[in-house]
Amino acid sequence: MKLKNKIHLWSTLLMLVILIVLMAVVYITFSRLAISTEVSQLETEVEAIVTTFNANPTDNPSAVLRAFVPSYGLIKVVDGNVELIREIRDPQTTGEFPIEAQENSGTLQVDNNRFAYVQTPIIWTDGEIATLLVAQELRDVSSNLQTLRLVLITVTLLAMIPIVLSNAALGRLITKPITNLTTTMTRIQDSGQFEKLPIDQETDDEVGQMGKTFNGMMDLLEENYRKQEEFVSNASHELRTPLTVIGSYAKLLQRQGMGDEQVAEESLNAIQAESGRMKNLIEQLLHIARRSEAQLELTEADLIEILNQATTALRTSYNRELVLLTDESHINIKTDVSKLKQLLYILLDNALKYSAGRIEVAVRNKEDLVIQIRDYGIGIPKESLPYVFDRFYRVDKARSRETGGFGLGLSLAKQLADGLGAKLEIESVEHLGTTVSIIFSSDFNVKAIQLSEEG
Ligand code: ADP
Repeated sequence: MKLKNKIHLWSTLLMLVILIVLMAVVYITFSRLAISTEVSQLETEVEAIVTTFNANPTDNPSAVLRAFVPSYGLIKVVDGNVELIREIRDPQTTGEFPIEAQENSGTLQVDNNRFAYVQTPIIWTDGEIATLLVAQELRDVSSNLQTLRLVLITVTLLAMIPIVLSNAALGRLITKPITNLTTTMTRIQDSGQFEKLPIDQETDDEVGQMGKTFNGMMDLLEENYRKQEEFVSNASHELRTPLTVIGSYAKLLQRQGMGDEQVAEESLNAIQAESGRMKNLIEQLLHIARRSEAQLELTEADLIEILNQATTALRTSYNRELVLLTDESHINIKTDVSKLKQLLYILLDNALKYSAGRIEVAVRNKEDLVIQIRDYGIGIPKESLPYVFDRFYRVDKARSRETGGFGLGLSLAKQLADGLGAKLEIESVEHLGTTVSIIFSSDFNVKAIQLSEEG
């Protein structure tokens, strides 16, 4: 069932139930009031009968009582043993009316007719105490209640007409924006375009919010799609260059044969170098692809030890001046050690590639935990700084080609830092040097300590 019809059906049913309950309350209250009025009227009449009867002792009590028989009613007198002494009834009244020897009043159903009755003691002509019963059919009340029933049913049915219409309108009003949304979404799905919903910016209701969220999601999807396209195109472009070089040298070898030793050696060297570059690129691409699936494997470790290991290894392999500057002898952290090492190696590799002098790794553990990798190399021009974390961005393509970079290092570093809950900041002055900071905010420190306490 459609939402519109559900809203329509349920709200109409609810209103109907409310109306029926209301009408029932009105009907019951009115009928009780009317009946109790009838009974008290009858009680007054009975009091008058008793007073008249007692005030005027007579030999012919039937004549006196006959004068008081109500229309559509009867008068009965029974002695102490509930033996009938007198019964006088209006000719239109039928049915056997029960009587007990006690004072009582109320209503009773006899032969499908409702009666009001009053029983009261009376001193009979022989001086004995008898019981007098006066009963009267509730004809007027019944006909009034019948009219009231009819009126209430008519009013309920009449009230249902605007209720049904307004609920149908309500259902349409609520579901119209949702239907519009669904139509646009289906159109977007069919066309494969990143279309947005036409939204009244003023509207701040739930449906408006949903539309805005949808548009935001579309923006994000479009942006991601664009980035992905750009990424694939950049990656293919990067792969084409080494493949072209390999292809050209293979052709050269084919043409000139292996006879010319110098050409053969040059070709094989170039093929080897380019296939090495390709392997590097593919490895970096795989790292980026795996990142989203990668889970953090947290272990407790000493940051100073990790940095010592990294700097020592690179100092030995590259024979470069690489120093660790810190006041701390141990900093315990809980982190994914292999990811942190990967991040450090990317940044240290850049410092080694783009500088020739001393490289410093500084650690500060004050408010935030900050690791800085500082070099005094060629630096990055100011205008290039905002883009260095973008994939495939290189300040100088020719220079990067010499160093073997594809412009993926810093974007991968950023992804790793994000995964580790750290912020990456870069400061650089061209020809003076570059400092990259890995900042674990104080929140992270608290988290790290808590984790180590839990562990
Ligand atoms: P690549 O793999 O080409 O080095 P990165 O993403 O690591 O790519 O860096 C992007 C660009 O930023 C590089 O092309 C390089 O020009 C510049 N860059 C990165 N680190 C440094 C640094 N320490 N000194 C100078 N330039 C740097």
